Amino acid sequence: MGNYDFTKQPSLLIQGAMDTETAYFIEHLEEYECVTIGNWKFHTGFLGAKREPVIISKTFQGMVNAAAATSLALAYFKPWAVINQGIGGGHDKKFHRGDIVLGEKVVPMGSIAYAFSEEGAGIDGKSFSLLPVEIFYRETGKTKKVTEYPCDGKLLKAAEQVKTKYHTGRGVIGSGDEWNNQLDRIALLRERYHTAVEDMESAAAAQLCLSYGVPFLGVRILSNSIVNGEKFDEAVGIDGQKFMLSLIDQMREYM
Ligand code: SAH
Repeated sequence: MGNYDFTKQPSLLIQGAMDTETAYFIEHLEEYECVTIGNWKFHTGFLGAKREPVIISKTFQGMVNAAAATSLALAYFKPWAVINQGIGGGHDKKFHRGDIVLGEKVVPMGSIAYAFSEEGAGIDGKSFSLLPVEIFYRETGKTKKVTEYPCDGKLLKAAEQVKTKYHTGRGVIGSGDEWNNQLDRIALLRERYHTAVEDMESAAAAQLCLSYGVPFLGVRILSNSIVNGEKFDEAVGIDGQKFMLSLIDQMREYM
């Protein structure tokens, strides 16, 4: 593994679910090497003018895939932080396709408990409460139940200060194995979680980072915004990676 041992020395783990969220990074890696663990590939190397040691992980889509890839990476490598980034669907009208949401926190939107109703009462999608998720904290050896996952304040501040042509803003990222198109449901999700954008991976990665005590940041570029009538274009994933390259080049100035 070259001179730099990614299993022992610190690196930044950058995740994306699809090629449109990872291939541009991989093309730009210097001293590229690929490690396969189970069904997942981890691309190690150095990115940008400052030769930042990074691991690029293509997680595949969805919460379980993201959790598996994160778990393997946290056990095998020594990331000082994890950034889960990629495309997402807008909930907040102020963000348009191509805009970037910097995660202030991440919420697992699928973790909900529905209220009881009688047989024949019909299906009520509104009567639910947040179902806390059990986290095993490596540091204390204890478990605790939470309904949201934090993003790292220093990384978030650095991301906010990046000089970039993209329109960025902080917001809540909501994740679940779901794709919402009902405007009333999106309004309800915003009411409950204050989501700016939804995706299908961030919360899985954030949950494991919380468990391991590794700083986490979620970053999502809007590929669609049903609330603004803007259709899906996955090509924006490349712009998301370009923004991330600027973050990687500039973050040390701001942290
Ligand atoms: N049908 C295409 C594109 C899938 S898009 C394909 O399978 O190749 C799904 C991915 O984009 C997920 O990884 C998710 O994180 C993200 N995503 C983009 N817009 C989304 C939205 N509105 N809701 C949920 N996930 C979204």
